[in-house]
Amino acid sequence: VGTLYIVPTPIGNLEDITLRALRILGEVDLIAAEDTRHSKRLLNHFEISTHLISYYRERENERSEELIGRLQRGENIALISDAGTPGISDPGAVLVGKAHLAGITVVPLPGASALTTALSASGITDSGFLFLGFAPSKGGQRRKLISSIKDSDYSVVFYESPHRVDDLLADALDILGDREAFWARELTKAYEELQCDRLSILYQKTQDQRVRGEFVIVIHPEKQEQATGEDIEEMLVWYRDNSEL
Ligand code: SAM
Repeated sequence: VGTLYIVPTPIGNLEDITLRALRILGEVDLIAAEDTRHSKRLLNHFEISTHLISYYRERENERSEELIGRLQRGENIALISDAGTPGISDPGAVLVGKAHLAGITVVPLPGASALTTALSASGITDSGFLFLGFAPSKGGQRRKLISSIKDSDYSVVFYESPHRVDDLLADALDILGDREAFWARELTKAYEELQCDRLSILYQKTQDQRVRGEFVIVIHPEKQEQATGEDIEEMLVWYRDNSEL
């Protein structure tokens, strides 16, 4: 039985591919790629000539059957997407799920992802985050999703495309209020831009200038209220009572 490798590819800068990814892509029998023409350019750049087969969202079900068959016959397969880590707002889940069920070894490689790259520069603390991927394109559904995070204590992370980022920011501002937020645009590319600001400022920027590229948006939770003198008094009483136990 073969092995299924999940291989991240760069999100812009080609230097971000790992040595292990290059070795695996060169060694496997087959690479399943979201868009074979797109990935061909990447593989040509690294002089990798492994055979490619397409594996995209609309054909995940049928293609995964075929790929599982090939894995069971002993072929090693690498799964890649157009950019970043497969399965993270990208095709992959169906094949990976079936591989686990079939007892096939799944080997995920660490590597580039817009999610972790953006988060590492967003200033989130150890309190955790909630990743929601792409918000729905339909206004009603998007607003419902945003309403559901109103009371969350976590920083919430969205992926967004340039033509919908203003809708997301406008709805978030309206529903959540003027929270602290962060955007990472065109990560690892020539026009990379990071900005920490309130939602109103980021939204205004989308209105003042044509913002291009791909975005990761992080919306921080409402700030905890400052403890009052009374709260502190209560805490001290609690400590005194409990330390006597
Ligand atoms: N699987 C990918 C990953 O691990 O990063 C994400 C794929 S998803 C289809 C594409 C979205 O990821 C974009 O719309 C954008 O929100 C985000 N993204 C990808 N590359 C990016 C980059 N260079 N800068 C900022 N965001 C990026």
